[in-house]
Amino acid sequence: MIPVTSFSGKHVALFGLGGSGLATARALKAGGAMVSVWDDAPASRERAEAEGFVPVDLREALWPDFAALLLSPGVPLTHPIPHWSVELARQAGVEIIGDIELFCRERALHAPGAPLIAITGTNGKSTTTALITHILREAGLDVQMGGNIGVPILELDPPSPDRIHVIECSTFQIDLAPSLDPSIGLLLNLTPDHLDRHGAMENYAAIKQRLVSASEFAIVGRDDDWCEAIFQGLKQAGRSVVGVANSRPHALATICCESGRLRRAFALPALKTLEEVLFDLSRAQNLRGAHNGQNAAAAFTACERIGLPHDEIGLGLRSFPGLAHRMEQVGKRGAALFVNDSKATNADAAEKALASFDAIFWIAGGRAKAGGIEPLRPWFGRIRKAYLIGEAAEDFAATLQGAVPFELCSTLEVAVASAARDAAASEAPEPVVLLSPACASYDQFANFEQRGDAFREQVKALLEEASEQGALF
Ligand code: ADP
Repeated sequence: MIPVTSFSGKHVALFGLGGSGLATARALKAGGAMVSVWDDAPASRERAEAEGFVPVDLREALWPDFAALLLSPGVPLTHPIPHWSVELARQAGVEIIGDIELFCRERALHAPGAPLIAITGTNGKSTTTALITHILREAGLDVQMGGNIGVPILELDPPSPDRIHVIECSTFQIDLAPSLDPSIGLLLNLTPDHLDRHGAMENYAAIKQRLVSASEFAIVGRDDDWCEAIFQGLKQAGRSVVGVANSRPHALATICCESGRLRRAFALPALKTLEEVLFDLSRAQNLRGAHNGQNAAAAFTACERIGLPHDEIGLGLRSFPGLAHRMEQVGKRGAALFVNDSKATNADAAEKALASFDAIFWIAGGRAKAGGIEPLRPWFGRIRKAYLIGEAAEDFAATLQGAVPFELCSTLEVAVASAARDAAASEAPEPVVLLSPACASYDQFANFEQRGDAFREQVKALLEEASEQGALF
């Protein structure tokens, strides 16, 4: 835990008692602050009470007494409308910040300049955060990972000059961290997402941009127009910035993933360029797909900046185990590979998986999002057969009609059994049974994690069955 000393002896308000809210309350208390906590949910207040905090209804509180309002990142700061606690804090002139801001102030007070790598973007944040952490840890460095992934930031070990913090940041968290100034800041990509919570795209992009603008060294994706404009802006301002891209071979100041290899171009005299091949991604089992090219290029650049030699970075890229539910390889039976991409809750995310394999036995469906699977039509040629589950099955069947053979399976269990049977009979060199549902899970599961876990369990049972049968002969 990181005791927060910057509010020692002061009174602060805290709204939102989820995992990170409670961790923030503990860290403030440990650092000597007096914390008035509140949450609209009685169960959350009870959890806090059980730890010795006294819930105070902040609607009734004396706001001028507070030095700050600590807000959980899920609570609306601006859109669709500011939360009532935000309104009260603003009326009283009380600053509104989050746990990452508290971390930054501790770092500035006790370990200024301690290595801090912060990652944001619309997609790929968790993968890149976990990948950087893995590479650095494999190289024997002291690394702490948290923020929007896994452990709340204030539950990590404190910053120190020889310890690297690798932090995933959501837009909400950046918005609540005005002094976030990472040693290395990464902005992977920007596409419309959660705009209901951020207003216009311009607003969303401006918040994300702050993370790289305040970084000592910035790494910016160059595959979308929004990020490209930010990259160019930083370059023109003379900032230390490197681009990462799938789409710009031979671009200078950029690590590019092209034809499955990470490359960097150098300018030579007489307008010539020289290319250095940095890593062959076909050696990284769990970084398949073009989208992971961007993540790998970003992680490579960050670790190089930390000072790791290329061969050590390569070792980490190769041994990265991947993240659960994101194109997670959960088993192999004969030539058939089973892949859990349960995190793909919309067509955009499922597209990444469909683009990564050639002979796909596709399990899709659940609670459909607007637009269904029509945007995936360009990839239909890769799908040998679809196994449709959940509420969306009929609609998806109508879209696939005449283009892709399909089976209405209703449940995941039926779908896994049918897809495994067909994949086993396939002539393809690497048939892939892919759960990438392009749907939310809520019609049949509590969340996408539970759906992915169920898939993993069923595949495990199939593999055990196969090995028992094998033992009989
Ligand atoms: P996040 O933490 O930003 O939600 P994840 O690393 O958990 O991102 O990946 C979620 C999904 O986003 C993946 O399953 C994949 O479909 C897609 N994805 C991952 N990396 C990228 C990327 N660099 N660009 C676009 N999409 C990506």
